[in-house]
Amino acid sequence: MRYALEVVKITKAYDTSDGPLTVLRDMSFRAAKDEFVAFVGPSGCGKSTLFNIITGLIAPDDGGIIVDGQETTGRVSDKIGYVLQKDLLFPWRRVIDNIILGLEVKGVPRREAREKAMDLLAEYRMTGFENKLPGELSGGMRQRVALMRTMITDPQIILIDESYKALDYPLKIELEGELLQRVKGSGKTVIFITHDIEEAVTMADRVYVMKARPGEIVEEIRVDLGTDSFSIPERRISPRFNEYYNRIWQRIGAPQPVGA
Ligand code: ADP
Ligand code: MG
Repeated sequence: MRYALEVVKITKAYDTSDGPLTVLRDMSFRAAKDEFVAFVGPSGCGKSTLFNIITGLIAPDDGGIIVDGQETTGRVSDKIGYVLQKDLLFPWRRVIDNIILGLEVKGVPRREAREKAMDLLAEYRMTGFENKLPGELSGGMRQRVALMRTMITDPQIILIDESYKALDYPLKIELEGELLQRVKGSGKTVIFITHDIEEAVTMADRVYVMKARPGEIVEEIRVDLGTDSFSIPERRISPRFNEYYNRIWQRIGAPQPVGA
């Protein structure tokens, strides 16, 4: 079977004033097409570093990245889209010009890019906002624009780094549900980082639990809530939810013995 993404024995250390700091050690995992994979783990365990290595923004010291069967280690692959921790829209660019950024970089004619963006804006129920500046939008709208900016390049793998963290709860579950509905069944792979165990269990097909210093995967949990619903509240009340939640909580939330 060909995986959408294979991460093979990645090791990465940063140079610090106290000497090298090994952030990731020998990390491997795979993700299939159509899969949602969550990473949960304490702050500083190397989640963002892992994503930066997957996208090719930084190179690992050791190990490799294989995207759709092709090695891409240390190179930016156009099969990967990245929604960053902060929405990071350019404040001086209108919504539509933020959305077409990735196509602009690829040299797609402006008219064609804008047509695609208008289609996306309609799909995300934001027609009429194309000429607004990011500062004129609500947090949820900015988040949708950030997602559109990623989706417009039609990536096979979508990496999402704690994008929903700053949103209020109803908006967060609305956007999570929208993401499931849009992406599930499309053949794309979503890999997301979250601090939120509930978000991991309601969205992911698999959850990787990480520990820090050095960052390593300590547990892999396959999630099957037994429902096809894309509604987060409906997924949340699945009788199996608590079992998964507790298993992850025992790993990362419950107080650990000193030195563990
Ligand atoms: P996470 O996203 O899980 O919070 P990061 O990947 O951002 O973790 O960071 C992992 C560790 O590496 C942290 O201790 C952080 O301080 C350190 N770190 C991150 N980037 C750098 C860098 N460019 N130089 C030195 N240390 C870094
Ligand atoms: Mg991070």
